[in-house]
Amino acid sequence: MNPHGQSFIAGERIAGTGSAFQVVSPLDRSTLPGVFLTADESQVDAALQAAALAHPVFAATEGSKRAAFLEAIADEIMALGDVLIERAQLESGLPRPRLEGERGRTVGQLRLFAQMAAGNSWMDARIDPADPSRQPLPKPDLRRLLVPIGPVVVFGASNFPLAFSVAGGDTASALATGNPVVVKAHEAHPGTSELVAEAIVSAAKKVGLPAGVFSMVHGSGKVLGPWLAKHPATKAIGFTGSEIAGRALFDLAASRPDPIPVFAEMGSLNPVVLLSGAIASRGAAIGTALAQSITLGAGQFCTKPGLFFATEGEGLNAFREALTSTIAGIVPSTMLHPGIADHYNAKCSSIQAHDSAKVLATTTTAADPNATQGQPLVLEISAAQFIADDTFRHEVFGPFAILVVSSNETERDTALSKLGGQLTATIYGDEAELSSSQPLVAKLGSIAGRVIFNGVPTGVEVFHAMQHGGPYPASTDSRYTSVGTAALLRFVRPVSYQNAPQDLLPPALQDSNPLGIVRLINGQPSSAPLS
Ligand code: NAP
Repeated sequence: MNPHGQSFIAGERIAGTGSAFQVVSPLDRSTLPGVFLTADESQVDAALQAAALAHPVFAATEGSKRAAFLEAIADEIMALGDVLIERAQLESGLPRPRLEGERGRTVGQLRLFAQMAAGNSWMDARIDPADPSRQPLPKPDLRRLLVPIGPVVVFGASNFPLAFSVAGGDTASALATGNPVVVKAHEAHPGTSELVAEAIVSAAKKVGLPAGVFSMVHGSGKVLGPWLAKHPATKAIGFTGSEIAGRALFDLAASRPDPIPVFAEMGSLNPVVLLSGAIASRGAAIGTALAQSITLGAGQFCTKPGLFFATEGEGLNAFREALTSTIAGIVPSTMLHPGIADHYNAKCSSIQAHDSAKVLATTTTAADPNATQGQPLVLEISAAQFIADDTFRHEVFGPFAILVVSSNETERDTALSKLGGQLTATIYGDEAELSSSQPLVAKLGSIAGRVIFNGVPTGVEVFHAMQHGGPYPASTDSRYTSVGTAALLRFVRPVSYQNAPQDLLPPALQDSNPLGIVRLINGQPSSAPLS
């Protein structure tokens, strides 16, 4: 691939007039082909103006047309073939099978959201018919549905160059519900972003949509972030990445004269609670499973388990030994970019230097800095130390975890009470101890978006019942998910029509129910027309 390095503004390739940058491959620190030109403020403005212009047209398209658009994007991405996988590999250092799997997830997600767009059920249509005879006052006719919110700005993460990037979940959910999208390409994988953006632009042309329905701009988040977040045409932001960047965007959006919603999915510690029965009966197996989970993909998953809470007792040594020996045999792998690896290594050094932390596990093979590798590391501390010092309560993005050992369950629960919001919380327990763990399960449910029993938290399925998001700082709005079909609900807002004439109502609310959807009539689901 020889990238052109340009942004896409309303269907056209435009050379940015800001500074130029190149990408260094994490695999060998070589400079990759392609000079990327960053967009300036007037080009960001042009992308958002075009999005605002496209919005009313795109919002009014039939669900079947938006579905065809999403399907066409999926087809175009697949048609890119090896070029896409090879460039993503060079830019991210991720292995080929992982990227092929991620591409499958990305197109699968687009096709699932296409079904949602075609089915129109996300509109959540509700009708309370009029009752002119109601006393003391007649009841009006009220009809409510969800409508697209308007242009959405998307910032993707570096650790999923396909599934959480240009055509990732945020873009797919915004487009499925009729919102134009402007993506800020991640600086770690601009070539991959360019290929995927081209696929989206081509799909929009094939389906016959207005050009402003999609744009992608190159540039640094710190520079373009404020222009994108504060632009009057921007109506919502979808973000995946670090807490620091997500919070910066949230604050920018809140400081606008007209604050807008920011759906930022950020980092997480993903605590794992190890109940004593499970540790006594299968400590070694759990230790092996967790060692594999924290080192999977060099630990660069937002759901990587980062904290293990155990009480001293039978089986804990078997757990420690299995964790230690499994990690010892792992060969360090390349991290996403030199910045992430440097950050990881610096964080490991500073936390390891802490008096109270002792090294429980690391690899026997040293990390190779020329291949941007991070060395897996597991520390052990006491629950008293965890309670006393918040050093141990921050995400370390990479193959790192801490075992926190309590002398009893009360101390463990005090340690757990120090945790903020999480994407996931996991509990390993045997049947009998789980059945008496209702308060613990309730506690985990109160801090996390997803509670997992007897399994690792890495792996986030794209389904209807998935929740990927949790109380702050896991995300900026715990009511929503960024994965699964419920993600569509982030980029819509409700409108009620009172006593509206039939011909002025959107089809979803008309008596004849031309869309054939299930609606809530007087509180009861029904797909029947109103007589
Ligand atoms: P990142 O550094 O926060 O980057 C994400 C995006 O935000 C990039 O486009 C970046 O631009 C932009 N950005 C950075 N600083 C900004 C600022 N001050 N204002 C506006 N935009 C800014 O995250 P990452 O390194 O790609 O991803 C790693 C992190 O993401 C980890 O903490 C991980 O846990 C988290 N993550 C969370 C989820 C989830 O679903 N919750 C999923 C994956 C990853 P540049 O291109 O200029 O860097």
